[in-house]
Amino acid sequence: MKKILFVTSEVYPLIKTGGLADVSNSLPKALAQTGQEVKLVVPHYHALHFHAPVFERCTFKVGTHTVRLLETLLPESDVRIWLVDCPEYFGLPGNPYVDAAGNAYSNNAERFALFCRVAIEIAMNRVGLDWKADVVHCHDWQTGLIPALLSLEYQCPPTVFTIHNLAYQGLFNGLMAATLQLPSQLLSSDGLEFHGMISFIKGGIAYADKITTVSPTYAQEIQTPELGYGLEGLLAYRNQDLVGIINGIDDDWHPRTDPLIAKNYTIDTLVDKKENKKALQAQLNLPVDENVLLIGLISRLVEQKGIYMILDCLPELLDFPIQFVVLGSGDRGFEARLQEFALANAHKLSLTLGYNESLAHLIEAGADVFLMPSRFEPCGLNQMYSQRYGTLPIVRKTGGLADTVVDTLPSTLANQTATGFVFNDAHEGALLEAIKRAGVLYAFPESWRQIQINAMHGDFSWKSSAEQYLEVYEGI
Ligand code: ADP
Repeated sequence: MKKILFVTSEVYPLIKTGGLADVSNSLPKALAQTGQEVKLVVPHYHALHFHAPVFERCTFKVGTHTVRLLETLLPESDVRIWLVDCPEYFGLPGNPYVDAAGNAYSNNAERFALFCRVAIEIAMNRVGLDWKADVVHCHDWQTGLIPALLSLEYQCPPTVFTIHNLAYQGLFNGLMAATLQLPSQLLSSDGLEFHGMISFIKGGIAYADKITTVSPTYAQEIQTPELGYGLEGLLAYRNQDLVGIINGIDDDWHPRTDPLIAKNYTIDTLVDKKENKKALQAQLNLPVDENVLLIGLISRLVEQKGIYMILDCLPELLDFPIQFVVLGSGDRGFEARLQEFALANAHKLSLTLGYNESLAHLIEAGADVFLMPSRFEPCGLNQMYSQRYGTLPIVRKTGGLADTVVDTLPSTLANQTATGFVFNDAHEGALLEAIKRAGVLYAFPESWRQIQINAMHGDFSWKSSAEQYLEVYEGI
């Protein structure tokens, strides 16, 4: 049994801005089920939603700040969450990282440096909890100073640093080194310094005992200039300590039990999937037609997700006999252009702007294929949800998409491993070609059904991811 301190800046359902919150909910629970003792450390944001009682554990000083540590439980588990209460840093309502106008808080460096120092005090058993970590698992730039600062401690526990998305690095003005009182031995170009700035994520990458990221392909891609953001050299240097582990998906996403879909189904009752298609078409005022190829997309509407590729191929795509259902929000320019297409093609293209959990589930259940033409994708969730729902993903060959979807080829059809459609080039022509391939195959119901079954048999459980993380902890 290992004592794991799991340090994260967000955890569902208390607070969520992205996939990190889901991982921080599911992975600790899956680790606990393998017999490990996991404690989470999360900032006590004003915006937290509590699902269990909260009580005070202790109060201590870190630098000039007096910090209270509160405790609550992760819902549906015995996993404890320790909340770092420091109102001057975390007491603002709203998003953990940005203000109402979408700008990063001007004191993010101080906020998350304090968070890191508190996690270190806990890990080193210096706050009176009578608990010392065997391993500290840190996530993304907000926790990047932990491996760096902890490396200077006597008899420190080993650290694992997980990169969920290298695009977010926590870069701050070099003058912050003094403000944050960072020891000079950490400030070299082998350490936190990055082109004259201080990089929090580099603290994690340079000093953690092991580095993980959320898919094997992304682990390779971040060692290249294209997706390494200037850190590719350091990542390649640490190659031996870098592993990719695919995220699992939650059991909330299962067509057998999903309460948010029109009709539940399994591999054995796959015909019932059509009821969800009809319900989706009716709900979105599209012609109810069970034979037309229905394409789904649920996404942040941002550059990373390849939305520009979709916009470029829409004029031609809308000439095909298809229906296209889009749910998302993000870049105002992308939203406006999609809206123009939707207005002019209301019988084929349905656009829902905003965040809508229940519609997301119905799209997964009701669509025939699901589009994810991401420019890059560290792991991605929807391509795995889609496979569980027998909704064949059309994905670009990058990151976690490359690792979790098997392209439909004569060979993979024959050996029953095909689970979707994969294309290479980040270009609308390649995307359109993949959609055409799906359209052709859709006309052969027996083959289609076999691919659906292959996809629905996939193991995307957290159990298997947790076992891989455990191997990492044990390998240090
Ligand atoms: P990322 O974390 O980069 O946005 P992922 O595929 O890892 O991408 O996870 C995105 C998650 O957010 C998925 O569960 C997806 O269904 C959900 N999601 C994204 N946009 C919406 C939306 N507009 N409405 C409902 N769910 C959404």
